Amino acid sequence: MSIATTNPATGEVLKTFDAATPAEIDAAIGRAESAFHTLRGTTLEQRAGWLNAAADLLDAERDEVARTMTTEMGKTYASARAEVGKCAAGARYYAANAAGFLADEPADAPAVGARRAFVRYSPIGPVLAVMPWNFPLWQVMRFAAPALMAGNTGLLKHASNVPQTALYLGDLFTRAGFPAGAFATLLIGSAAVEQVLTDPRVRAATLTGSEGAGRSVAQIAGRELKKTVLELGGSDPFVVMPSADLDAAAEVATTARCQNNGQSCIAAKRFIVHTDVYDDFAERFTRRMAALRVGDPMADTTDVGPLATEQGRDDVAAQIRDAVEAGATVLTGGVAPERPGWWYPPTVVADLTPRMRMWQEEVFGPVAGLYRAADYDEAIALANGTGFGLGANAWTRDEQEQQRFIADLDAGNVFINGMTTSYPQLPFGGVKNSGYGRELSALGMREFCNVKTVWVGGEQATPGPGAGHANE
Ligand code: NAP
Repeated sequence: MSIATTNPATGEVLKTFDAATPAEIDAAIGRAESAFHTLRGTTLEQRAGWLNAAADLLDAERDEVARTMTTEMGKTYASARAEVGKCAAGARYYAANAAGFLADEPADAPAVGARRAFVRYSPIGPVLAVMPWNFPLWQVMRFAAPALMAGNTGLLKHASNVPQTALYLGDLFTRAGFPAGAFATLLIGSAAVEQVLTDPRVRAATLTGSEGAGRSVAQIAGRELKKTVLELGGSDPFVVMPSADLDAAAEVATTARCQNNGQSCIAAKRFIVHTDVYDDFAERFTRRMAALRVGDPMADTTDVGPLATEQGRDDVAAQIRDAVEAGATVLTGGVAPERPGWWYPPTVVADLTPRMRMWQEEVFGPVAGLYRAADYDEAIALANGTGFGLGANAWTRDEQEQQRFIADLDAGNVFINGMTTSYPQLPFGGVKNSGYGRELSALGMREFCNVKTVWVGGEQATPGPGAGHANE
């Protein structure tokens, strides 16, 4: 894929970029390595100050950054502005909480024959971040903020269709005060990832993206014995049981499916409805999906903009065609309009069967599949019945049933009577083919730390755990 800004609302190529050469990649890794040696010697207070300054820059530049995101990948301007705000809040969260997350953890010294024993969370070095275009700022911030606070440095390989957002992020942290090279953007295609990951100075990688990209990066990292965190795709179930508030469920279902023009890993994609309320829910949900306003992503009145790429739009159209040809019923939408740009309307499809692609595949656009479940057991079987395990939603007012869903849903995130969302305070990640490892919260920050066991014997009197530690 060429590295370019193409407006998905019009299909117009606005700006193209040259990819970094192997020598330029090598030099950037060198800067990340030397910035690491500087950064690990700084204090948490210094790093928190710089991260708060990055948050202030985001707040001050919110409109401009949001406009760039909307132009590059088509999300509505309102949602782009909200994303910038979320990034600023996320940065401030890690600035405020890193000291607690990284504090030395005392262990039972007498039990291990030590005078003192504790665990220290130490930085590991430059980390490669391979990131997707769908939340082009937030996906990067949720890696960068904890990584930089922990004392690691970052090399960003962003998706090829969001180069201007990538370049903004590459400058942001240096402008905020971090040492030059502590966080840098590499404008490279996916084929150049191997050069970065096989370089001994790069210690680990995080990837958010498709299953195929995850497998490819994990294979290289496995060969190189480097740790990875993978945040991959999902086909999240949204289960509606008879005791649910159907109006609230239908309203949230519409947002959960169509937020970000339907291109969210944690969007609800499969709507599994108990047969007793199936017809009622289907009517309420379809009516709301059909009422969404599709149009110019810069306009305040728009709910759903274009899909980000021509390939993405074509993939969605092909999945729906496949289902319809095999007997599925389209309740609303289902036909891509003839106009420039990569448009696909909010769509609801029913009467799905296992031989249709949609049954197992992720649909990355504003398309909902409706499934009828005879009872709780069938609902769970359907919910857990794909290769993915990212998020899962269940709607029920029955508390015992809520407990059963929490225990039985095979997903990294379970939201009851709500839609899956990421919060800095909560760990985020998947199971099965949705990946492994966690982002956000203290767990996300520690993924790229050396969990260092410290055992101290001897007689001399020394201060307690953590004394003199730069991370204090
Ligand atoms: P993608 O094609 O996998 O791209 C994601 C990133 O990986 C891009 O930077 C891409 O670079 C790079 N990439 C692609 N193939 C690669 C390879 N073989 N080796 C190394 N790097 C490679 O995914 P996408 O279509 O942009 O994003 C949508 C997918 O991401 C969906 O499946 C969605 O569910 C998932 N996602 C998951 C999460 C989560 O947190 N779990 C969040 C958001 C999105 P190029 O652009 O240069 O190809």
